[in-house]
Amino acid sequence: MKKSGDPQPQESRLDDCLVRIPRRTHVRFPRICPICLQPAEKKLQLRIPHRGGPLLHRISFPVCHDCYRRIAPRHLLRCVVFGWGLVAAAVAVAATLRDTLGIVLFFVLIIASRIVRDHNPTGVSFHMDRESMVWTFPSPEYAELFYIANLRE
Ligand SMILES: [Zn+2]
Repeated sequence: MKKSGDPQPQESRLDDCLVRIPRRTHVRFPRICPICLQPAEKKLQLRIPHRGGPLLHRISFPVCHDCYRRIAPRHLLRCVVFGWGLVAAAVAVAATLRDTLGIVLFFVLIIASRIVRDHNPTGVSFHMDRESMVWTFPSPEYAELFYIANLRE
C-alpha cells in the first residue's frame, strides 16, 4: 500500500519546445533531424555541462546530411581555432606577464575559450535540475516526438 507521504515520481512534461523528463542515463531521439525535420542519417555530439552530476557523459543525436554538413565543419573549426586558440593565448599571456594583469588576462581568455567551445549551433540543448532533465529543441514538432519517444525509460 502506498503511503500518502511517498514522493511522487517526476512526470514528463511537454511545453512548446521544452521537454522535461525524469533523470535517466539513456534518452531516445526520434530519427529525424531536429533542425529541419528531414530523415536523419548523421550524428552530432552534444557537449554536456558537468554541473548537475555525471549522469550522461556524451550524447549524440541524429541530424540530416545537409544540416550536418552545414554545422559540423564550422563548429569544429570554431572549436579548434577560437576555442583552443584562446587557451593557447591564455597560456602565452600567463607565461609572459608574470604579474596580476597576466593572471587576470589568463582567466579572461580561459573563460572566453570556454564560451566559444560551449557555443551550440544546433538549438538542441539540455540542463538538469534536481529530479529532471530539461531539453530544448529548435521546433515544437520535434519536441513532441522526443517527448513521446521518452515517455518510458
Ligand atoms: Zn536537417
